Amino acid sequence: MTATSITFAPPLLKWFDAHRRDLPWRARLGQAPNPYHVLLSEAMLQQTQVSTVVPYFHRFTGAFPTVHDLARADEQQVLRLWQGLGYYSRARNLLKAALAIVDRFDGVVPRTVDDLLTLPGVGRYTAGAVASIAYDTRAPIVDGNVVRVLCRIDAIEKDPREKAVQLHLWTRAEALLPDRRTGDFNQAMMELGATVCTPKRPSCLICPVQSVCQAHARGIQDRIPPAKPAKALKAERRWVFCLQREDGRYLIEQRPPAGRWAGMWQFISVEATTDMITPADIRHASGYTPAELEPLITVHHTLTHRQYRFDAYRGRVRARRAADADPPRRWASLSEMEGLPFSKPQLAIRQRLGEQE
Ligand code: SF4
Repeated sequence: MTATSITFAPPLLKWFDAHRRDLPWRARLGQAPNPYHVLLSEAMLQQTQVSTVVPYFHRFTGAFPTVHDLARADEQQVLRLWQGLGYYSRARNLLKAALAIVDRFDGVVPRTVDDLLTLPGVGRYTAGAVASIAYDTRAPIVDGNVVRVLCRIDAIEKDPREKAVQLHLWTRAEALLPDRRTGDFNQAMMELGATVCTPKRPSCLICPVQSVCQAHARGIQDRIPPAKPAKALKAERRWVFCLQREDGRYLIEQRPPAGRWAGMWQFISVEATTDMITPADIRHASGYTPAELEPLITVHHTLTHRQYRFDAYRGRVRARRAADADPPRRWASLSEMEGLPFSKPQLAIRQRLGEQE
């Protein structure tokens, strides 16, 4: 049997009512969702697992209980709360979106996909998710979990990243939507993909839509969607100089306002050009020449296309002048750094310094 809205939506919604996870941004049965919480959670959940997001969501809503509070926030404060969650452009866009909501929509998260699409950082998926989950607007969504479920339901063996397949998936997601409870339906699709129709060994025996699943009928669910070809990661190596002056403070610098880890703070970090560090390298990077340099820690950090290796060193310097203003640099103690946003690898370096103090 082919999946249609009539054969697919009712068993899926029934399953969702019985098995929905209790998540802090999700409205309880019978309660109205908080659109700001929905927007915030959708931004945090991109490329990130639910269990990782939960503590960040609590911290964020504790600091910024409403969209007005977020719109008044300072970018450094927002990045500090996002610290460790990665993909920091999401945090900067969220702040810009909050400002736009206050300026253009009277502080109310928009209800329609078209209005939501005008917000910074909001694409077709997020617009559909917020419109449907927060307001029950009839809008389809296609994310990684939904792609997998739909490809299996229709036994699509092609690469779902192909344009024609993408088009088909959005059309199918819309065709399967019921007239009511579209937000619950979309959440149920994602939840089914996350907990039952998993990438490896899907639990077809307990699946509520098994009777309309073409892949299951043909026994080919394990090879749908096809495995992505392994990506070659570009290796990047950095030297990190943790230079400490007599009063115990370290020299730190702020990253440029655009690009990776934009606006966040770090110890003096430069591209490692050779296997040997010379005093001239440290002086060129920092303006100082420590009497000695001791190895501190090596941190490996993998991103989607890059594999970083940070070799951190510690040294003491005599510093009589103020830190440079370009790039913004300052002397800070480890406790003063706690109020500043640092990337995950730089945090690991900071933590090691703390263990040695
Ligand atoms: Fe996924 Fe299996 Fe359900 Fe099909 S029957 S949707 S493959 S869990």
